[in-house]
Amino acid sequence: MKHIQIDHLNFELFIDYEQIKKRIRLMGIDISVKYADKNPVFVGVLNGCFMFMADLMKQVHVPCEVSFVKLASYQGTQQDQIQELLGVGMDLTGREIIIVEDIIDSGNSLQHTIAALEKLNVASIAVCSLLMKPDCLQHAFDNITYVGFEIEKEFVVGYGLDYNGQCRNLPDIYKNIPAVGE
Ligand code: 5GP
Ligand code: MG
Repeated sequence: MKHIQIDHLNFELFIDYEQIKKRIRLMGIDISVKYADKNPVFVGVLNGCFMFMADLMKQVHVPCEVSFVKLASYQGTQQDQIQELLGVGMDLTGREIIIVEDIIDSGNSLQHTIAALEKLNVASIAVCSLLMKPDCLQHAFDNITYVGFEIEKEFVVGYGLDYNGQCRNLPDIYKNIPAVGE
């Protein structure tokens, strides 16, 4: 399937599953070498990370643990957004953390995730994201160590990433293209 349409938006095949798997294999080797004796905890940020996490973990060949969190945002008393990390479910004190993300766009949500984990007295935090849009980043990070693919400022779906809740189940990644006549 080269083209798909959702709610009148057009998408074309962008990164197929074979390419994704090849890249993840290399990322897994890299992580396995660096974390050989560190028993890291992979912390996946739901929902988008679920497919990436499943494939990544099959390529990590060192002892490790896996956990998932969700960022919940609600309005605070001062009209500002409060971001709470839900579901950690284990003691992360002194642990080597690898945050697993589907995509980093502005970096806003990643910044909240990192801030929340830092409060838990972890030993270290590295970030592993399947996709990143460098031109969209609005924060400076020094710990985005593993990136699958750097992409342009474009909207992508598939392989865990959704549009209006749809498309997370697609094995390949698609990018939005202008409709004919636009
Ligand atoms: P950020 O906080 O870095 O701006 O955005 C992070 C979140 O926005 C991602 O976890 C994802 O849910 C959503 N997002 C950003 N770019 C895209 C995209 O191209 N496609 C989809 N489906 N979601 C995106
Ligand atoms: Mg995400």
